[in-house]
Amino acid sequence: MNIILLGAPASGKGSQGAVIQKELGIPHISSGNIIRNHIANKTEIGLRVKEIISSGKLVDDETTINMMIGELKSENCKNGFVLDGFPRTLKQAEALSKVVKIDLVININVDENIAIARINGRRVCNHCNETYHISTLKNEFCPKCGEKLIIRDDDKVEVIKERLKVFKEQTYALVEYYRNQNLLRDVDGNVSIENTFEQIKKLLKKSEK
Ligand code: AMP
Repeated sequence: MNIILLGAPASGKGSQGAVIQKELGIPHISSGNIIRNHIANKTEIGLRVKEIISSGKLVDDETTINMMIGELKSENCKNGFVLDGFPRTLKQAEALSKVVKIDLVININVDENIAIARINGRRVCNHCNETYHISTLKNEFCPKCGEKLIIRDDDKVEVIKERLKVFKEQTYALVEYYRNQNLLRDVDGNVSIENTFEQIKKLLKKSEK
């Protein structure tokens, strides 16, 4: 199944992508993680987009589309995928529609104050990409691989507002775009990871039929 996760920053796309990957055995493809890996590896793309990502703005469509289409056409995605963070603009959605057929778009709705509280407490591991919330951590090291956890540059208070604004101005239009194609289903993302996933499971069952 080819699935897109839509939602504001900190709506839970990353967490749900990981659970769906486990449940359905299809890869969780996060554009944010792919871009952060480029930055960590100091590739040509990484060096070019480092400042943009730290400012909370979007990487240009051409770079993002080429990077993501390459990934989606790879062997890894031949049995399906769950996309997190891509597409983020109408241009990206149109480019995507030319190369793959999308089966389901899950729109995770979250209140802005809850999103901000989640981002403020978010810690990530630069080594294995795992994400945590400080409320569940005993110390500042990754429980999975032992690396020191960090705050993402774009999770800093001054950048959060910009990311939420970019979402409203550039990404929210995709909700109507996919609703008009009758592909979009809404879930409540203000609740726990488990509770959101229960809602998603029902949608997955329905779309298998
Ligand atoms: P995320 O981890 O999905 O929140 O993405 C982090 C940042 O990566 C975003 O704020 C953008 O700067 C960049 N990014 C991720 N996905 C895209 C995309 N589809 N289009 C443009 N920029 C993106």
